Amino acid sequence: MMKKRIAILGSTGSIGTQTVDILDSIEAEVVALTTNRNVKLIEKQARRLRPQLVAAYDGQAAAELRTALADTSIEVCAGAEGLVRAATLADVDIVVTAVVGMVGLVPTLEAIAAGKDIALANKETLVCAGELVMRAAREHGVKILPVDSEHSAIFQCAQARVDNPLAKIILTASGGPFFGKTRAELASVTREQALHHPNWSMGAKITIDSATMFNKGLELIEAMWLYGLPPEDIEIVIHRESIIHSLVEFADGAQLAQLGLPDMRLPIQYAMTFPARMPCKVPRLSLADVGKLTFFTPDEEAFPALRIARAAAKERGNACAIMNGANEAAVDLFLHDKIRFLEIPERVERALADVPRCQELTLARVLEADALARETVYALR
Ligand code: MG
Repeated sequence: MMKKRIAILGSTGSIGTQTVDILDSIEAEVVALTTNRNVKLIEKQARRLRPQLVAAYDGQAAAELRTALADTSIEVCAGAEGLVRAATLADVDIVVTAVVGMVGLVPTLEAIAAGKDIALANKETLVCAGELVMRAAREHGVKILPVDSEHSAIFQCAQARVDNPLAKIILTASGGPFFGKTRAELASVTREQALHHPNWSMGAKITIDSATMFNKGLELIEAMWLYGLPPEDIEIVIHRESIIHSLVEFADGAQLAQLGLPDMRLPIQYAMTFPARMPCKVPRLSLADVGKLTFFTPDEEAFPALRIARAAAKERGNACAIMNGANEAAVDLFLHDKIRFLEIPERVERALADVPRCQELTLARVLEADALARETVYALR
């Protein structure tokens, strides 16, 4: 296999550090790394991996990083332009988009326009602008390789389809820390409880999304764009053990699943080595050790995020961008103890009610919908 030359956007986050962790198992050369503002860690990564370029989104952090790496020949960039530079360098073959939130959108589109394959871990990009991203990928002949564990599972199962279309996708959801709680019980849950996920260790934003189940709502929209199925053909099932990472169904009713212990390094590695499979340093699954697997129908009264996301997915246009921007703002307020847990979906619904719709999407319209949704959520009392 040819040595892959990669750029990691968000190399100091949860997916980013796990990507760095598997680099020695695959043939890869790191060309660029970016962080929001974790100067210490990105400096350490840069000294070990020797990329051409590093970037910090935060201006102050970029200045500190420039000083820290002054004794090296590594170029240091700042801001959104820094992310775009990292994603479009001539020597890059594949961009791992592991940044959190909408900030990943523009660098991803620029990378696609520059002909780079995308290992997509930034789900907000597809949620807000799936139509634009998938169209650009087709036009430029680049691959969008899913890193999200569920979408990687679907991608892996879909390799068996030959010429058959997928009839259905079944996304599994752990249910998060509040599975089984009623709406009334959710009224008093705290930030600390919401940040404690039973199966996956992830960043704060996605852990809260997992607790509200907006994460699964975002993943439904992500699956719709990646696999071209309407939202009504994407089912969500709660699977507490997170062993089955998702399933596909064909016309004859046959379902295929991908299984493994919950560990992001496998889907990250597969996105990078596809179509090859290489030894991966994840612990192996023993079904006898697991004993039993359980499944439940989601409770959409306690977790309205699923209903909200499905409705936005059906609407298309800018509805998903509004939902995503509102959710990012609401999660930010919750993480700062400004609103209670149940106000997250409430504020998202308020933004969806208030922000004007448009059907024809452009990048400017996506960014505008996102900004208006955030403004609405921050302004609510
Ligand atoms: Mg996931």
